[in-house]
Amino acid sequence: MTAVSLGVPEMPVRPVAPRRESRRIQVGPVAVGGGAPVSVQSMTTTRTSDVGATLQQIAELTASGCQIVRVACPTQDDADALATIARKSQIPVIADIHFQPKYVFAAIEAGCAAVRVNPGNIKQFDDKVREIAKAAKEHGTPIRIGVNAGSLDRRLLQKYGRATPEALVESALWEASLFEEHDFRDIKISVKHNDPVVMIEAYRQLAAQCDYPLHLGVTEAGPAFQGTIKSAVAFGALLSEGIGDTIRVSLSAPPVEEVKVGNQILESLNLRQRGLEIVSCPSCGRAQVDVYKLAEEVTAGLTGMEVPLRVAVMGCVVNGPGEAREADLGVASGNGKGQIFVKGEVIKTVPESKIVETLIEEAMKLAEQMEREGAASGAPAVTGKPAVTVS
Ligand code: SF4
Repeated sequence: MTAVSLGVPEMPVRPVAPRRESRRIQVGPVAVGGGAPVSVQSMTTTRTSDVGATLQQIAELTASGCQIVRVACPTQDDADALATIARKSQIPVIADIHFQPKYVFAAIEAGCAAVRVNPGNIKQFDDKVREIAKAAKEHGTPIRIGVNAGSLDRRLLQKYGRATPEALVESALWEASLFEEHDFRDIKISVKHNDPVVMIEAYRQLAAQCDYPLHLGVTEAGPAFQGTIKSAVAFGALLSEGIGDTIRVSLSAPPVEEVKVGNQILESLNLRQRGLEIVSCPSCGRAQVDVYKLAEEVTAGLTGMEVPLRVAVMGCVVNGPGEAREADLGVASGNGKGQIFVKGEVIKTVPESKIVETLIEEAMKLAEQMEREGAASGAPAVTGKPAVTVS
């Protein structure tokens, strides 16, 4: 077999849409807005005051591809833990403050990479803006103004009757204007709602009315299946219009799952270089092999591979050869055999019982070649199960 030249994969050449122009802020080493890559965030579920458990969870999130992590700070013990967590975390830490302005100052002093405040929840917040802006400016700490439908300012609820897109946007821009009065613009904004339709409209309006970078989120999105769909639909709609600079998928599931979904959404939209992708057909009456089993076995065999490889597992010779030819590696099955494709060429035909091991063997060869050529160095760290796309 002749060596297949794979070349060094480039970053996606055709992202889903031109990005909205926004000002850039720095969340620790991670740039947000101003054309910086869209970053994936999550939030710890441990008690922040339990430093060991929180750092352990942050390490797991980091390994799964999380780039910015948020920790809750509801008590003084949590505030006291922030300095150690911020210092030892491998990724920037954002302190999430809801009720006590004094914790905002504590988080800034502790060296957190940013502070999230919820205008609807922080009492006397408006009175403290000057001091917060001064402290944040001195430490170079950005502020996220995080408006949530569930905790919208009472004034706005009375004005609009409920958490409409207009109400969410008015709340966010009002709080931003308070900081602007003190010449502080190191801000990013979120306007979250549990209804993707309301959320999408809120972000569209916000994007049109300011140039701050935007953090996307569908709040209380639900258990993993529902939350994944809601987030994918909402983020997909907005990112397809160039709106969104960081994302957080909120799931009632371990935060590592949020990160996997977030990365997958960005990869699907070509906003991030794709990792390993299994393209498998849904099977139909023409299938001449158990496609589900084959796809599962190939997926299991390639789990953990980090190169941007596209592997097609197809059930028959109708669409199979076409899809297999388009992928880096593929199989089209039929008559108890599998035609193995590498970079568009049939390299061999093997009995059905050898399809899985042959695909894995060929994938390893391609991965090694890509790594040698430096392909893997630019790929995002994708761990856990590879993406599975069903045609
Ligand atoms: S590739 Fe063949 S078996 Fe699979 S869905 Fe298409 S026609 Fe059916």
